[in-house]
Amino acid sequence: MTSPDTEPQSLYAAREPVFPKRVKGAFRTLKWWLMAVTLGIYYITPWLRWDRGPQLPDQAVLIDMANRRFFFFMIEIWPHEFYFVAGLLIMAGLGLFLFTSAAGRVWCGYACPQTVWTDLYILVERWVEGDRNARLRLHRQKWDFEKFRKRMVKWALWLLIGLATGGAWVFYFTDAPTLAANLLAGTAHPIAYTTIFVLTATTFLFGGFFREQVCIYACPWPRIQAAMMDEDTITIAYREWRGEPRGKLSKGGVAAGNGDCIDCMACVNVCPMGIDIRNGQQLACITCGLCIDACNEMMDKIGRPRGLIGYLALTDETREREGKDPKSVWKHIFRVRTILYTTLWSAVGIALVVALFLRSPIDVNVSPVRNPTFVTLSDGTVRNTYDVRLRNKQGDTVAYTLSVTSGAPVAIRLEGEDDTTVEVGAQETYAIRVYVEAAPGTPAASTDRTDIRLWIEDASGTSRVYHDTVFNGKGQ
Ligand code: SF4
Ligand code: SF4
Repeated sequence: MTSPDTEPQSLYAAREPVFPKRVKGAFRTLKWWLMAVTLGIYYITPWLRWDRGPQLPDQAVLIDMANRRFFFFMIEIWPHEFYFVAGLLIMAGLGLFLFTSAAGRVWCGYACPQTVWTDLYILVERWVEGDRNARLRLHRQKWDFEKFRKRMVKWALWLLIGLATGGAWVFYFTDAPTLAANLLAGTAHPIAYTTIFVLTATTFLFGGFFREQVCIYACPWPRIQAAMMDEDTITIAYREWRGEPRGKLSKGGVAAGNGDCIDCMACVNVCPMGIDIRNGQQLACITCGLCIDACNEMMDKIGRPRGLIGYLALTDETREREGKDPKSVWKHIFRVRTILYTTLWSAVGIALVVALFLRSPIDVNVSPVRNPTFVTLSDGTVRNTYDVRLRNKQGDTVAYTLSVTSGAPVAIRLEGEDDTTVEVGAQETYAIRVYVEAAPGTPAASTDRTDIRLWIEDASGTSRVYHDTVFNGKGQ
């Protein structure tokens, strides 16, 4: 039996709720602007219209799952062009690597949805319950009418934001005005209601209750980012060589022998992650810069230079400790690693733009029928059969003419057609069986394999594509 003295201590520590204090400053202003821009883009985008003609949807950004297409303003991506989406994802990844290697977790601090929505939820919380001290008091007080009323108002507003978030998401997948009307009438597809419910619940919980715990315990990015950062990455740091030994402000100002830190806790009180940056770099720090604003405000008040907490690289820390000036920001930004990421990012971007401009409005897919590889007709003509699929990516019906070229004479015929022209409806795929024939005794009929090229040209002659394949003859 274990005695109480020898009982192992629990390693579990209950979460301390975080009540970030309001702060003013350059980084807070930047975060407000970024919040407005990112939320604005998210909520407004599905309502933007883009005229693509009568046959196509007029929603500027639409993930059309039913017809398996993605519309982005003038660009339309078909399933077989998924490499565009893959390219964009690669660019997003490289962009994240670039920003992280240059300026640490700027994504986490300024643009990550978890950060943006949590910031919005804290704004609502502060509006309903007051700033940090009032919220702390409310948290500690027993449930009474005031606490109940404030909590209900706050949760109702959070739910409305969650609902708007989930609602906006489903509008990306179908015509937004139509879906909005159907949702209100109760006639939308059950998947739409389920998606809205799930996203409302997750936004409510992640932004309202889990907050910093999502970043610390659930998100893999803090762990991955270490591989992209080095001693030249600019990140947030406390100039401990300037601030220590810390001590409370006395009537005469900072006491003789003390550093600039007056231990006012302003940097800790504004931190949305509930950490003390004076303890050094921490996994939980999302580099949001709010502690810089808080400390700068304090330095202004006590008449000390700003920048006790600031953006700083490890190399600068070493230099400053030696009494030297830090390197210029540009030297931190332009270095081999960031130039490499920028080059790769640009290369993928240029390749995507070139591919976008080079792609044809017609797609053709040719599958030779190989069972049998050829047939011999009663008059000795050798015939090969091909299954051809034409995809008209334009907004109008187009007539396409098929032809064949080869080093040896061959002829083309379309099954069930009098000539070699077919009409394909707008945005439609047309499958047709094509016969290529070589007359008896001709080189193509009597050799094993002859290279041929199938051409598809639209009636106006503006678009022409080909597909290379093989004609099988009888051999020697
Ligand atoms: S320590 Fe500073 S930069 Fe890091 S999360 Fe807290 S307030 Fe933001
Ligand atoms: S805000 Fe500045 S002065 Fe106040 S505790 Fe933090 S580092 Fe020290």
